[in-house]
Amino acid sequence: MSMITPLGAVILGLSLSALLPNVLATEQTFISIGTGGVTGVYYPTGGAICRLLNQSRSEHGIRCSVESSGGSPDNLTALRAGELEVALTQSDLEYQAYHGGGYFAGQAAFSDLRSVFALYGEAVTIVARKDAGITRFDDLKGKRINIGHPGSGQHQTMGHLFTAYGWTLNDFKLVSELRPADHAQALCDNRIDAFAYVVGHPNGSIKEAANRCDVSLVPIGGEVVDKLVADNAYYRYISIPAGMYRGVDEQVRTFGVGANLVTRAEISEEIIYQLTRAVFDNFERFVRLHPRLADLKKEQMVKVGLSSPLHEGASRYFNEKGLLE
Ligand code: GLU
Repeated sequence: MSMITPLGAVILGLSLSALLPNVLATEQTFISIGTGGVTGVYYPTGGAICRLLNQSRSEHGIRCSVESSGGSPDNLTALRAGELEVALTQSDLEYQAYHGGGYFAGQAAFSDLRSVFALYGEAVTIVARKDAGITRFDDLKGKRINIGHPGSGQHQTMGHLFTAYGWTLNDFKLVSELRPADHAQALCDNRIDAFAYVVGHPNGSIKEAANRCDVSLVPIGGEVVDKLVADNAYYRYISIPAGMYRGVDEQVRTFGVGANLVTRAEISEEIIYQLTRAVFDNFERFVRLHPRLADLKKEQMVKVGLSSPLHEGASRYFNEKGLLE
């Protein structure tokens, strides 16, 4: 009974594939999108994608939900383990997962990782107490800094940046690993001098800090950053526009990564096609669902900063619309 003969396998294969075309139309398919903390931008972006996909459910039967998470590394781990079908991730962590390095060193390359589309740039952002005397990145040395939870993108990207500067965690008076839900309060309570967040702007978390106490955003640049951007395709220069937060009236130059939507190769072409179609066919609505999405351009979202190959469901939609030409 426990053995499947070759003939049995063939019959099983045939009957399954005969059933498949009807599965989407008659049954619900559940997908979860891994995001980040609720006061970041991943969470509302995932919510915007699900909202548009759920609106056409009568056509495809997909029920999309959003999961709050620790951030990119946690999302990629859960995606690989089959606990999520789709995830948001930073382009640097996506690159490391696909090639098996950095945070994922020691693991086999996640070669089934696939891109759906790129979204917006995420700035490496240092939010400091105004009274902490931190005006340049170098001033962080000897200070109390929050670099985020170990499963977050900021924790990993800051580790890379510190290494590039030749610093270790011993160069700080204190290094904490609070989640975004807690870093604004810690800053305004004067338990830390600064926190790092790799995130799109504006976001609720930095608004919370800026509204509660006097903060500044610290520019990051110079030779170290120039070399990081030159050597790694997943980094880019990013400026945080003026006027997004109380007391921050000038543009702040820094660098950062791309925020990308990813999946696994074995997630069905139909699911990823429908998700892509829901966002791109309703693009005017999508870009109004969060201020960070307002300046997105379709043409850039299909190629800029992707760190893994396109999923076949996404490329099917993009080819139909001539977006890959
Ligand atoms: N970039 C952050 C991370 O990967 C998440 C930012 C957000 O939640 O918007 O952990």
